[in-house]
Amino acid sequence: MGALKTKYIDLPMMADYLKSVGAEKVIGRLIPYLEEDYKRWEDFDKVPRTAHHCEVGVLELMPIGDKDTYSYKYVNGHPENPKHNFLTVMGIGMLAEVSTGFPLLLSELTLTTAVRTAATSVMAAKYLAKENPKKMALIGNGSQSEFQALGFHHVLGIEEIYCYDVDPKATDKLMENLKGVEGLKLVKCNSTKEACKGVDIITTVTADKRNAIIITPDMVEPGMHINGVGGDCPGKTELDSKVMFMGDVYVEFEPQSRVEGEIQNLGDEIEVTEIWNVIKTGKPIERAEDQITIFDSVGFALEDFSMLRLLYDIAKEGNVGVDQSLVPILDNPKDLFSMLK
Ligand code: NAD
Repeated sequence: MGALKTKYIDLPMMADYLKSVGAEKVIGRLIPYLEEDYKRWEDFDKVPRTAHHCEVGVLELMPIGDKDTYSYKYVNGHPENPKHNFLTVMGIGMLAEVSTGFPLLLSELTLTTAVRTAATSVMAAKYLAKENPKKMALIGNGSQSEFQALGFHHVLGIEEIYCYDVDPKATDKLMENLKGVEGLKLVKCNSTKEACKGVDIITTVTADKRNAIIITPDMVEPGMHINGVGGDCPGKTELDSKVMFMGDVYVEFEPQSRVEGEIQNLGDEIEVTEIWNVIKTGKPIERAEDQITIFDSVGFALEDFSMLRLLYDIAKEGNVGVDQSLVPILDNPKDLFSMLK
């Protein structure tokens, strides 16, 4: 038996923690956890997430486990939600001890999803993008965008970010939120095409439940890396299918990405590499100068496993969360009814 109390982290606790240390620090600290877990890919019991679809969105459960630890995330994706004052993406999740089933940690995973998604994007770019990238286009300037920008700036050294959103107020919000970040130049653009011109990395993180075509072949230049984050469920894509054949495509977990990713409409025509194959080598791919790479990210349970594992360590350090009794620990574990006496 591990801990007798479950560590519990709610949203205000997480917000305070991220404010106190800086989201970029946690993004940076998460990357080695992600790498460590991706390197031992074969140790995990993996399944594509279960998805409950409705016309305007999706509700998902993302479970994964190894011989010691199990985790799951509940998360939604409702692009119309901001019109009703809800976030597009909201989550909660849990880490448990396999040997007993005891819940070790229960946590908010909305802020945390933004952190883990940024860390995953940065990790992938570290292995796939050209050396020393300096300029990035950021298409879609909603909830995830600041975290992406901070991760790419602080961890990968991106110095200039060209921002575009169909909603100009979203771009204004992003620029206002990040205006004090030292060494980071943010440029508001009038179109996706303008934002993508001459950059090293294109990050798309838009929300629209349709097969959108946001990045077209004319926007993609030799040597670019595309970090496609927003196309993450059936009927929801961001890249022109022709773009997918312009470079090498990397995914998280192929059985899930074939259903949810940019590759969902391309069938066997397109070959992909699961990213763990690269991460386990411990070094970036060898790429020609004009090589184009595409990370078709949908978000995989392993990334939340790594995030929860890190959060549990931070909670044990005493830096976030409280101890809660969420399951009974009894003198006589066969006498649950004793709790009612
Ligand atoms: P959000 O609703 O807060 O922001 C999305 C932004 O995209 C909005 O500002 C919207 O105006 C903009 N947008 C929509 N269509 C556009 C277009 N054609 N061109 C430019 N901008 C456009 O959502 P969010 O929380 O930032 O999430 C963004 C997307 O990322 C969602 O689709 C979400 O499902 C996805 N996501 C993926 C992962 C992953 O692991 N791959 C993780 C989290 C979120």
